[in-house]
Amino acid sequence: MVRQCVILVGGMGTRLGDLTKAVPKPMLPVNGRPFVDMLIDEAARHGFDRIVLLAGYLGGQVMEHCAGTRRIAGRDIEVSVIVEPEAAGTGGALTFLRDVAEDNFLLMNGDSWFDLDLREFATVEPGTTPFLLRMALRPVADASRFGTVTLEGDRVRAFLPRGTAEGGLMNAGIYLVRRALLDQIYRKPCSLEGDIFPMLAGHGLIQGKVRDAFLIDIGVPADYAAAPELLAKHRTRPAVFFDRDGVLNHDAGYTHKPEELVWLPGAKEAIGQVNRMGWYAFVVTNQGGIGRGLYGIRDAEAFHARMNEDLAETGAHIDEFRLSPFHPQGSVPEFTGDSPCRKPNPGMLTDLAALWPIDMARSLMFGDKQSDMQAAAAAGVRGILHEGGDLQARLNAALRG
Ligand SMILES: [Mg+2]
Repeated sequence: MVRQCVILVGGMGTRLGDLTKAVPKPMLPVNGRPFVDMLIDEAARHGFDRIVLLAGYLGGQVMEHCAGTRRIAGRDIEVSVIVEPEAAGTGGALTFLRDVAEDNFLLMNGDSWFDLDLREFATVEPGTTPFLLRMALRPVADASRFGTVTLEGDRVRAFLPRGTAEGGLMNAGIYLVRRALLDQIYRKPCSLEGDIFPMLAGHGLIQGKVRDAFLIDIGVPADYAAAPELLAKHRTRPAVFFDRDGVLNHDAGYTHKPEELVWLPGAKEAIGQVNRMGWYAFVVTNQGGIGRGLYGIRDAEAFHARMNEDLAETGAHIDEFRLSPFHPQGSVPEFTGDSPCRKPNPGMLTDLAALWPIDMARSLMFGDKQSDMQAAAAAGVRGILHEGGDLQARLNAALRG
């Protein structure tokens, strides 16, 4: 499972004029937070927990704000910052990754957001012709502002300057990179777009993946000004809340060991479908075994990490796992008694709704117990009882009804 995500945040941002005189572009505020924070959140919810920021211009600010461990989506996310010692271009900057790059990593521009399922994008189907770089491509009707590519089968063959074609496919600024690509960069400065990509394309080493989705680039003033409203609108979407035991995995009673994970019929497929729809996928699970002292929170988290590793093989993911460790008759004092987050109370759902931009009125909750249905109702979410059978079939029936 690819877990490293590299974000290019070194640009000068000259097109933004005075805005970037004292602040590097990815640190510009959008809806009250530096833009790059939203990109880190996006990577985190797709299961990328090792983030590397390649900084340059005013890199000290990036270092000061971003470096360290953050808790996002219930996971510890390590953010490290490399400030390039000299301006090496977007291609040359990658050479500073040689000591830290993993075999495969996601690479993205730090000044744009493309609404892509990053986990699906980072999953390579068996039998795929080898590539050094997978590039996300987006259809554009008017190519006067963008360079485009020519695609033959799944290979990018050439790059056309802006204005050459009427419309076509543009580079959307997100890549899956094989570490071996770094060995192809031996002079600095050099540009990914100008030097490295055309060379790779000539050898058939770039695979293109076309996705028609929302993209915003904050690198020009009009788009930066429009970003707050557009981002809020496009990131707000429904969620599917899944109870865990008895819905996603076989419930053997206080199941918590990763090796005991047995998926139920249609569960992985249902989660993948929710991902493809662009909806959030959450797990909300009572883990009273923790309150009873049978296992710890870290054990439950390890179980959830295994679930996401299994899901990643199919290009699917859970955005966040929420658990309630409480048990009414617990033996661990701090987790004994009732809690707003123990179902049938809605706390896990309402906490998620406070953190993520969720359209609750269109959201769904699948559970195998009445307490799941009560939690859903109290959170204003439509509950669907699932006591057995194929979960994906149940999801499709719910979406039709
Ligand atoms: Mg259950």
